[in-house]
Amino acid sequence: MTDRSPPPTSGNALDRVVIVLHETQDLVNIAGTIRAMTNMGVFRLRLVRPREFSEYRISGIAHQAGPVLDSLEIHDSLDEALSDAVWVIGTSARRRSANRNYGRPRELTQEMVERATDGTVAIVFGREDRGLDNEALDRCDRIVIIPTDARFTSLNLAQAVLVLCWELSMHVGDTDRALPEGRRATRAATRGEMEHMFGALEQGLHRIDFFKAREPEAVLRTIRTILSRAELDRRESRLLAAIGFEIGNWIDRNVPAPPPQDEEKDSRSDDE
Ligand code: SAH
Repeated sequence: MTDRSPPPTSGNALDRVVIVLHETQDLVNIAGTIRAMTNMGVFRLRLVRPREFSEYRISGIAHQAGPVLDSLEIHDSLDEALSDAVWVIGTSARRRSANRNYGRPRELTQEMVERATDGTVAIVFGREDRGLDNEALDRCDRIVIIPTDARFTSLNLAQAVLVLCWELSMHVGDTDRALPEGRRATRAATRGEMEHMFGALEQGLHRIDFFKAREPEAVLRTIRTILSRAELDRRESRLLAAIGFEIGNWIDRNVPAPPPQDEEKDSRSDDE
């Protein structure tokens, strides 16, 4: 067994999850597994009797394999690889004849995360040609079957790892992982701010004579409908209000005032 530097942390239950690949035959699947794990923030990998292993070749296949490879362990037996695990999940493409505790990924991720507070939770994946044998399945507290089309139940090994890691990461990630902050960096616009904005837009549209042949009330209602659907935040409502006001300001600065007219009729329409 080799044991090297500690893996990077995700700061949540994923740090206690270990992926165990049992007797993997194809090195490409080890590389694919590492990539899937890294993407989902799971970094602890143990290999049990891999048929072929080369860090160099894996690094050439899997982008950014370093964090997983640096802490990778290789074991001679499944028992050794699982010795510190408080809960072991096996994976299988199909139900076997023996009665076992089967579950679907989403049903079991909740419990995996809870068990991970007690210690290491291991998820074991079988060989590409035969899956996990009975001896290996006997060591598992639960068996996960990823639901598939009934005619094509066997996933590629690395893709099966991805599905499990994805489910786990979604489970912990909802609360732990911040989405990129953008438009919600500020609070939602208040009713008052929205009315201020609509007023400004209406005024600006009047200034460019937008309503000439149109029904102002209907146009303004449509604008309200569109902008309500957009769920504007405060910054966005201010930006739109500024557009409305700046139309008027630009006209005041750049368009010469019309010569005084005989009638006292205002050239600006204040109609609704
Ligand atoms: N021929 C084997 C399939 C092996 S696929 C069999 O019939 O069991 C290699 C590994 O990928 C499996 O051991 C399991 O760990 C994982 N795997 C593949 N399909 C899966 C599925 N539908 N659900 C859960 N794990 C799966």
